[in-house]
Amino acid sequence: MQNQMNLLRDLQEVDQEISSIEATRQGYRDELSAFEADATRVQEMLDQLNDEIALLQQSEAELQQSLLKECDNVTKVEARLPEIQTQKEYVAVLKEIDVAKKTNKEVEEQMLSKQQEISSLEADLQEKEVELAAIQGKSEARGTELTQLLSESEEVLIKRTQTRESVAEELPVALLRKYHTLFKRRGGLALALASQGACLGCNMQLPPQQYNRLLQVAEIQTCPHCNRILFVETSV
Ligand SMILES: [Zn+2]
Repeated sequence: MQNQMNLLRDLQEVDQEISSIEATRQGYRDELSAFEADATRVQEMLDQLNDEIALLQQSEAELQQSLLKECDNVTKVEARLPEIQTQKEYVAVLKEIDVAKKTNKEVEEQMLSKQQEISSLEADLQEKEVELAAIQGKSEARGTELTQLLSESEEVLIKRTQTRESVAEELPVALLRKYHTLFKRRGGLALALASQGACLGCNMQLPPQQYNRLLQVAEIQTCPHCNRILFVETSV
């Protein structure tokens, strides 16, 4: 009975260690995914900026085309001036030139505004590229560390699992099942120390008779309040 109690205590110790290793490993994996999520987020911003810049550049090129065409027109119309004979026609042509020049000025202003938009987006783009590079740099360095930590902790985990299996093998199946259920339901604490007449798992007073029997270490007993398997510290 004392032997079973010792095995259970070993089992609980190794199970607690396994839980803690698993929680740590989950933390490593979460950290890795956070880096990936960050990089994806910035990459999406980069893609979006690139798309916007491409659209602006396209409309700037279209404006450039229409400007060239209009300038060509002005030149052609101006070339007609010396051949004009009537005052009326002369005024009409001058008006035509004036309108065309005004249009050109507007187109030039639109182009300028597109160029300014493009520059501002390009500045954003550069900023995001720096941000992405920083994330990638960090994630590469920490990623290597995390991968290493994951692989080291996996080795420890495998060893601990082997230990737990070999301890578990020596325990009666029914007791093992009871322990498992308690370990899950009682937050990783299936066994509780009984001391000075109380269960330290739930801090409730145990019936004196039960406590006396516990001190004799003759049988496996559970706490009537929290159901945990009780043990006492023996001087042996
Ligand atoms: Zn209890």
